[in-house]
Amino acid sequence: MTLFIAKLVWCVGVVGWYVIRLPHERRSRKTPVLSRRARTREGVLLATSFAGLFILPAIYVTTGEPRSADYSFHPALAWFGTLVFALALLLFYRTHRDLGRFWSVTLEIRQTHQLITTGVYRYVRHPMYAAFFLWAIAQAMLLPNWVAGLAGLACFGTLFGFRITREEQMMEAAFGDDYRAYAARTWRVIPGVF
Ligand code: SAH
Repeated sequence: MTLFIAKLVWCVGVVGWYVIRLPHERRSRKTPVLSRRARTREGVLLATSFAGLFILPAIYVTTGEPRSADYSFHPALAWFGTLVFALALLLFYRTHRDLGRFWSVTLEIRQTHQLITTGVYRYVRHPMYAAFFLWAIAQAMLLPNWVAGLAGLACFGTLFGFRITREEQMMEAAFGDDYRAYAARTWRVIPGVF
């Protein structure tokens, strides 16, 4: 594994991510929304996450900047990062399949919204965010640059930190006891840990 290949793996991962998401994005536009939460704040959080998971690493991959933040490349770490990115894509695919038309990029409840508690949602309440964390970890392993590598973890971590309680409050308001019971028997992101 060379640095060039590691950068290529990152590019392929991001394209894979987009290909998985595209049909859901189209479908989500056609599914009527019942209520939205914190639109402006959510917009800022999404932009932050996009900067860390896409814009900063894309600048590094295409221009090598910021060079002053480079550190030495470790092929074994990049191989591991490739595996983690593959796992992230697999989990991302599964979460979209399980959540179906109830997925949304911001906090929304659809008109015919149902609570999903099956598939990967049987084990954790936020498997899609787990997939994003795996992407961010893979990015840190593939790109040997303190800024481009760690931006994903910092920026997605910010979105997660500010969103998670609000999302759970929104779900509880919409599904009441069903959501409380679901929350009582599941973990948030990592089974047995958090
Ligand atoms: N936090 C989840 C979903 C992310 S998409 C995950 O990480 O997998 C965000 C949207 O998913 C929210 O607006 C909410 O409407 C919807 N959602 C979250 N959990 C859900 C569930 N268990 N069943 C149905 N919809 C859910």
